[in-house]
Amino acid sequence: MDDCLFCKISSGEIPTEFLFEDNKVVAFRDIDPQGPFHILIIPKEHYTSIKDIKDESLTGHMFSVGNRVAEENNIENFRCIINTGEEAGQTVFHVHLHLIGGRRMTWPPG
Ligand code: 5GP
Ligand code: ZN
Repeated sequence: MDDCLFCKISSGEIPTEFLFEDNKVVAFRDIDPQGPFHILIIPKEHYTSIKDIKDESLTGHMFSVGNRVAEENNIENFRCIINTGEEAGQTVFHVHLHLIGGRRMTWPPG
């Protein structure tokens, strides 16, 4: 999709180091990390939000990749978040799974 930041990242138009890449998803570090370890796992195909993904294998794959990258980086405790909609804190409208770890978390989220 034209003018989508994460489409430009996943396509390589904006050079970014990937911690994981296959034909469906990429994982890369968040530019404004909310913990010592904070990555984003995104589909290469543009979906505005998780509500638009009808293919359960894709959502499952995003979580599997998160698990794998966390394990590779010795992150045993982590939180996965998909902000959906502006009121929920979504600021980039290309679906992304946050995986944050490396620090103690509090609950509930703000
Ligand atoms: P949201 O608020 O939509 O759930 O999360 C968007 C995330 O994208 C934020 O955590 C923000 O720091 C991250 N982000 C925004 N722009 C960039 C960028 O250009 N590169 C990277 N790596 N992350 C970004
Ligand atoms: Zn996009």
